[in-house]
Amino acid sequence: MTTAHVTCPLCEATCGLEVTLDANRRVTRVTGDDKDVFSRGYICPKGASLGALHHDPDRLTTPLLKRDGEFVEVSWQEAYDEIARRLPPIIEAHGRDAVAVYAGNPGVHNIALTLYGRVLYKALGTKNFYSATSVDQMPKHYSAGTMFGDPLAIPVPDLDRTRHLLVLGANPLVSNGSLMTAPDIRGRLRGIRERGGKIVVVDPRRTRTARFADEHHAIRPGTDALLLFALVNVLFTENRVRPGRLAEHLNGLDDVRALAEPFTPEAVAPRTGIGAAETRRMALELADAENAVVYGRIGTTTQTFGTLASWLVDVLNVLTGHLDEPGGAMFPLAACQPTGNRRPFAVGRWRSRVRGYPEVVGELPVATLADEIETPGEGQVRALITVSGNPGLSTPNAGRLAAALDSLDFMISVDVYLNETSRQADVILPGPSPLERPHFDLAFYQLSIRNVANWTPATLSSALPQEWETMLRLTGIVAGQGPEADVSALDDFVAADVARRAGLEVTHDRTGPARLVDLMLRAGPYDVTLADLEAAPHGMDFGPLKPRIPEVLCTASGRIELAPEPVVADVPRLREELAKPADDGLVLIGRRHLSSNNSWMHNLAPLIRGGNRCTVLVHPDDAARLGLADGALASVTSRAGKLEIPVEVTDEIRPGVVSIPHGWGHDADGSRTRVARANPGVNSNLVADETLLDVPSGTSVLNGIPVEVAPV
Ligand code: SF4
Repeated sequence: MTTAHVTCPLCEATCGLEVTLDANRRVTRVTGDDKDVFSRGYICPKGASLGALHHDPDRLTTPLLKRDGEFVEVSWQEAYDEIARRLPPIIEAHGRDAVAVYAGNPGVHNIALTLYGRVLYKALGTKNFYSATSVDQMPKHYSAGTMFGDPLAIPVPDLDRTRHLLVLGANPLVSNGSLMTAPDIRGRLRGIRERGGKIVVVDPRRTRTARFADEHHAIRPGTDALLLFALVNVLFTENRVRPGRLAEHLNGLDDVRALAEPFTPEAVAPRTGIGAAETRRMALELADAENAVVYGRIGTTTQTFGTLASWLVDVLNVLTGHLDEPGGAMFPLAACQPTGNRRPFAVGRWRSRVRGYPEVVGELPVATLADEIETPGEGQVRALITVSGNPGLSTPNAGRLAAALDSLDFMISVDVYLNETSRQADVILPGPSPLERPHFDLAFYQLSIRNVANWTPATLSSALPQEWETMLRLTGIVAGQGPEADVSALDDFVAADVARRAGLEVTHDRTGPARLVDLMLRAGPYDVTLADLEAAPHGMDFGPLKPRIPEVLCTASGRIELAPEPVVADVPRLREELAKPADDGLVLIGRRHLSSNNSWMHNLAPLIRGGNRCTVLVHPDDAARLGLADGALASVTSRAGKLEIPVEVTDEIRPGVVSIPHGWGHDADGSRTRVARANPGVNSNLVADETLLDVPSGTSVLNGIPVEVAPV
């Protein structure tokens, strides 16, 4: 028996785990690492299934090539030869924009894909870059970019010191934290209570977090920006605006005061469903708390006013003096900060060809990918590279996109499974399991509620190439060097660029992500190297978050832009919404489960035990009105499509709202995920409408989709 200490790469919480292996190198046990400096023994069911993921017989272990409509196993050389034969001619004939990229969520948890994916994308030079960000958190990047000048400068709740937490559209007890890296959320929320603090949850559903909270407000989906503006309004009218030391770093305070005027608690109450007196009390408690933080997540970002809601969350944190203060919303300082000059944030440097959506953070809304594939003309997308993504299942109007993928001239998937999307590829390039590659949470330490770092070496060797080598092989092909490109030379080139940006000499004692992480650590704020982290298998703790304003600001003015023009330009749309009569039509929202990780862990038997979780939640009043019975099938219909799903009648959901979890629908022909196919569930994205977007950020509306529900 041997044990290894690893950082769990499956979600944002970055838990330290202890993995036990037998003499045959089989994983026999996975437990929480009690000595981990951050998670201190915490583990969830997903982390405990790391061994099941590694040993999953459906995980691909060799490249697949489609011949005459059937996948056959081929060598890596044959796979690259096929790509070199088919991809460059498309670029030569139709230009670089004819090749689109979709990067999925697991890539952010994979240091090789994070660091070397961007090398491939840069070499490709396509404007058709898409990712899971535009069905998730893009409004937060937009808001941070316009307010603070850096789309990655997203403040996080200082959970371990706050005494008042106002949560909107988030269920951290199930998600384990999102844009808030915090292992053992339950313990940390309990800590707020033990300090005499208060937790308030605003959500259309009485979620697990709402049940744990001191107070729950069942808001009408899509109206968070109205509620947040009303809270701002109260702060001004009750003379509670106290930005404290931030006052000297602020632009736009008077603009916000004027913008908030129409949004009184009385005016918004019919739309939000939250009474004016309650709204007033919430605002005053927030203002009067010793310290406090407002935190908004998926329910506030994937909705019609996602950017306005994300902006107003941080406006409230500023107005109450809780931004950049202990116990408030703070900016982490990761051991590996991005290198290079930070340029002020800009959007709309190009637009999507068919619907004219502006680029944000270098990408276009995935909701328009099908348009770009289907619509003939110059710039039409003819080839697609998916990297750890499942857009054929996980993006709006998935049925339409799946049909569009069939019309591509060529498609490559870098993926560990033959899933609902990669089944449509011509070539699939698999990667090693999480235990067969080194791991470092480059992205999530930048969102961590405590400054920590932990390097995980590969626990097991792999017969598969590391994904950074795969990315460089593909880079060589799109850069015109062919399938025999010198991967070592390309890696040296990448490392030299990282070193140059960091003002360091390039090193040659390591290769791949290890060398890049080492360079970034050396350039970082803590005077550590990768060797230091290697000598600390339970992680290094650099302490609680510290104030970072003004150093963190990167706006053209060097100040916090409290009323940034691109965001303020969307306020008239919200005023129009306010003027409309209250809408009582049925709307659909999503939900997630502790054992699910979007679409990609449903092939693990330990995680899908316990009966069918893929049901539509309906309030008893709506069920009675619509003739729906618990356990019976219902049809859910939207402009985009229709699905049938079992009904679960429960008063945990607000009347007028129904909920379907995302990530299901594993019944596509040709996928090779036996456990998932036996428990397919229904894909909520069949009814998600690809024409409904948050206007500034291009993020899909996945919460608040108008639907009709009827018995089948
Ligand atoms: S909470 Fe996240 S990081 Fe921790 S064990 Fe579970 S999946 Fe892994």
